[in-house]
This record gives sequence, structure tokens and C-alpha cells, in this order.
Amino acid sequence: MSETATKAFEAAGQRFLGTVNRHFDAAFAAMTLPPGLADRIREANSTYRVGFSVRLRGKIQNFTGWRSVHSEHVEPVKGGIRYAPDASEAEVEALAALMTLKCAFAGVPFGGSKGALRLDPRDWTAEELERITRRFTQELARHGMISPARNVPAPDVGTGEREMAWMADEYRNISPMEALTAAACVTGKPVSRGGIAGRTEATGRGVAYCLAQHYDLHPNLGGLAGKRIVIQGFGNVGQHAALILATEFGAKVTGILEREGALFNEDGIDIAALRAHRAAKGSFENFAGARFEADGGRGLCSDCDILIPAATENVITGTNAASLRTGLIVEAANGPTDFAADEILQQRGIPVIPDLCANAGGVIVSYFEWVKNLSHMPFGLLDRRLTQRRFAHVTEMVSRVSGVALPTSVAQDLTQTGSELDLVRSGLEDMMRAAYARMHARLKGEPGLGTFRNAAYVLAIEEVALVYRDLGI
Ligand code: NAD
Repeated sequence: MSETATKAFEAAGQRFLGTVNRHFDAAFAAMTLPPGLADRIREANSTYRVGFSVRLRGKIQNFTGWRSVHSEHVEPVKGGIRYAPDASEAEVEALAALMTLKCAFAGVPFGGSKGALRLDPRDWTAEELERITRRFTQELARHGMISPARNVPAPDVGTGEREMAWMADEYRNISPMEALTAAACVTGKPVSRGGIAGRTEATGRGVAYCLAQHYDLHPNLGGLAGKRIVIQGFGNVGQHAALILATEFGAKVTGILEREGALFNEDGIDIAALRAHRAAKGSFENFAGARFEADGGRGLCSDCDILIPAATENVITGTNAASLRTGLIVEAANGPTDFAADEILQQRGIPVIPDLCANAGGVIVSYFEWVKNLSHMPFGLLDRRLTQRRFAHVTEMVSRVSGVALPTSVAQDLTQTGSELDLVRSGLEDMMRAAYARMHARLKGEPGLGTFRNAAYVLAIEEVALVYRDLGI
């Protein structure tokens, strides 16, 4: 990679970290904390930079990566690992800080961490990526940066179930004394390798639950059904959010923006058909169900009710914020809005549901997976029969007393206890709606906070400060 490109990526990472730090400072200004505590809470505890080599294609290939631990006020610390050519140390530190805040805000008992490897996964075969991932895992393990008790990675941009399965397997191989808990060293694994049903869709589904709660608590907005949505990024988060919002909540996805271009259809894009098309052709081009435009970037300013950036950071900026034509922004990606844009959007009266809240679904279901790995017991196993029996009695009594047999679908709903997927979705919906409601109530009670983001930061920082206080710091 050229020196100029590296410098540009580092500058973008610094800008992202600068934005997060300014949000911290805005929240601190609205709070009263003991002297010194604000700095303690804002700064990353440590950032480990790793350089390692793997012999591939007949020569030594060098790789650079990072794992930043932002806050260990609760352990283990938690956060994804991304594989991206533009990764940088400052970006990883910004993402780690967001993880601390997100976990504290959403009520997930983890500290914050994040990691990255600077590489483009498209440049390497699956076999090569496996060797790189296993070598990276060894480096992380050597420095205590992966461990069920201390630091638990997860998927992020450029990584998924496959990489998590390799990491878990490598960790198990090099830590034989921890075999009983080793599966909990990462989350986002395939279900067959200790993962949990519903983890892959969790962040996108969480975005949908968060939006549903937003409309429930703002009845004047007329409900989520029929709302026109534009989504940037059709990766893990964007695809699932699009599919769930369209098929379960009746919203219309009218625009999808990707690197290769954008698709538009005012009547709503058929997301399942688009997924099948892109999987087969590798691109949006020639998809019959929408209009294709080669310049995807401009689509951010297309007319819609809800704009969901679900790709990457720093895309809504001081330059384009004045031109956005949306009624609401939902940050499915981490850090998509920079500080200057936030101020413009606030002046324009366009609310932003911040990343801390909107994309917390991933870490919430990661928490369920981690608990499942440590307990070695599938969710619902102990009480399934008992609950079924109790509800069978209730349905029988209701029918007998009323003389009317309950409709089969109602009786089935009452007597069939949840599968793992049902339970995960139930827990996810509960935590997402509760998190949104806390943020909403705080802003309503303290309008001076100005934005949902400031309210979410204040709530998160209060949680972290409470732990420090109880630790005697
Ligand atoms: P992904 O790699 O699966 O998908 C990202 C998609 O965005 C890709 O399809 C990519 O081509 C596209 N993209 C990148 N830059 C773009 C641009 N400038 N314009 C249009 N499209 C662009 O990654 P993901 O896991 O879906 O993560 C997306 C975002 O969500 C990231 O900010 C990530 O940190 C955040 N996030 C992910 C999770 C998770 O569980 N995966 C959880 C919380 C937050």
C-alpha cells in the first residue's frame, strides 16, 4: 500500500476518533463527575499493535493489526475485529470507545474493545485467510487479547462466522487447559461451532426493533409501515435490516447504496430477490427490480423518510449534511456521522438515532452466545416441558369454561415454547426497545441535552462512572 494511501487512512481514523472524543466532551459538559474521571473514562486503557508474517504464495507476507482495550471497568471486554485495507490505530481506538459506551448504554455486562487487521479479504483465498487468521489469533492470545474471561472478539466489517470459527478453533488448540470455556473466546460463530441462532441477523434486526420503538413512542409520525427507507451498505447489517424492515414491519426500501452503485425503486425493492441476484452475479448491475445508478455516493441525498447508513464511518459530513433529504437518520454503522454534520442536522431538526443505540443488537446477541457457551446448556431446555404443560392446562380450561375451542393457531402459540431463535429474538427486542426508551425518556426529561446521541452518551457514561465509584476510584 502506498504511503499516501496509508496517511489518508490514518487521517480518516484520527477524524473518527476526534468525533467520538468531542461527543464525550459534550456529554461531560452536561454532567458533574469527580475531577480526573472524565479523562479516565475517555482515554483508551491500552492499544496493542501487532506485526506478523505468514509465508504465502512463495514469499513472506507482512501484516499489521491492532486490538485496543478501551475500558476494563467490566470484564471481559468485547468488540468486533474488522479486516479492511483502510484500518488504522485511531479508527480501532474510536471503535473500542464506542463499544464501552454501547455496552454500558444497552445494559450488556462487558467493557469495550475493538480490533482490526489491515488487509483486503478480497485479495486472499479462503485458505490463505485461514492461515492469516490463525496466526493473528496466536498473537492476540499471547498478549491476553482473546480469552473468554478477558477479551472476546466478534465479527465486524470483512469478517463473519467463518473467521470466528477459525479463531475459536485456534484458541482451543493453543489453550488446552481452557477447553471447557474456550468456545466463549469469540462470538458470532456458526451454530454448529458453538454459535447461537440469530446472531448473524442480530444487528440488522436490532435496527428494526429500535425503529419500531421510535415510531411507537412517536405516534404522531404515523407508524413505521409504508415509510420510505434508503440504506447505505448491503453487507451483513444492511441486508438484514432491509429484509426485516420490509418483510416484518411493512416499510419500503426505496434505495440501496453500495460501492458498485445504487438501486432505486419508489415502490420498494424486493430484498430477497436482490440478495439472490447479488449472490449469483456479484453486483447490483442488471437487477430487474430497480433502477441502477453507477454513482452510489450521491444516493445519500435522495428523498426518503429514514436514512440508514450501514456501511462505514465518516459518510455524513459537514459537506453533505445540509443536502440530506430525510426525516430521520439511524446509525446502523459505527460513526457514520461526523461532528460537524451532527451540528447541522440538529439545526435542521433531523433526529439521529446514534450508533450506541441503533446497532447494539450485535453485542446483545453476542452476550447471549457467550452465556450459552459458558453454561453449556441450550436456552429454554429446563423449562420447556413444564411451560408447555402449564399452558396446555390453561387452554383446556379456557375452552371448557367458555365452551368455545381456541383457534388452533392461538392454542399452538400458547403451548409451543420458544425455540432458541424465538428466545434470542425476544431477548433482543426487549433489550433494544428498553435501551431506546431510556434514551428517549432522558432526552424528554432533559431537553437541554439536545440530541439522542448526547442523551445516550450521558446514560452510558453514568453507568461507567458508577462502576468506578463502586470500585472506590
Ligand atoms: P460488511 O463488510 O458485511 O458490510 C459493509 C458493506 O458496506 C459492504 O457491502 C461494503 O461494500 C459496503 N460499503 C463500504 N463502504 C461503502 C460506501 N462508502 N458506500 C456504500 N457502501 C459501502 O460489514 P457489516 O458487518 O455489515 O458492518 C457495517 C457497519 O456496521 C460497520 O460500521 C460496523 O462496524 C457496524 N456494525 C456491525 C456489526 C455486526 O454485527 N456485523 C455490529 C455493530 C456495528
